[in-house]
Amino acid sequence: MSQEPATGAYVLVIEDNPANQMLIQFTLAASGFEVAVAGSAQEALESMARRAPQLILMDIQLPGQDGLSLTRQLKADPRFMAIPIVALTARAMAGDRELTLEAGCAGYIAKPINTRTIAGEIRAYLEA
Ligand code: MN
Repeated sequence: MSQEPATGAYVLVIEDNPANQMLIQFTLAASGFEVAVAGSAQEALESMARRAPQLILMDIQLPGQDGLSLTRQLKADPRFMAIPIVALTARAMAGDRELTLEAGCAGYIAKPINTRTIAGEIRAYLEA
């Protein structure tokens, strides 16, 4: 159980597509979240070394180290293993959801992002 209010939570969005970055950042900020964006696994690790987020939104398809690999790495790291990771995936195949769960994600949000529901979905993961 988190002691932090779900709204106002600090969320790191790991996503390489600039349009998706802007859409997610704008939507979550408008709902009261504090948002940081990283465009690659390396940027994400640098950001997290400065400040650990309360939740991570993880694009699976990233240049270089992909989101599944980064998820496994974070879930093996005592500093970060407790942070819920929610996959962002455009791939709708049922087997891909299994891959995200096996890697350690708490769940997934399908792309394209639904700007009317994403904030509520993230609150639910924070309160789970
Ligand atoms: Mn991508």
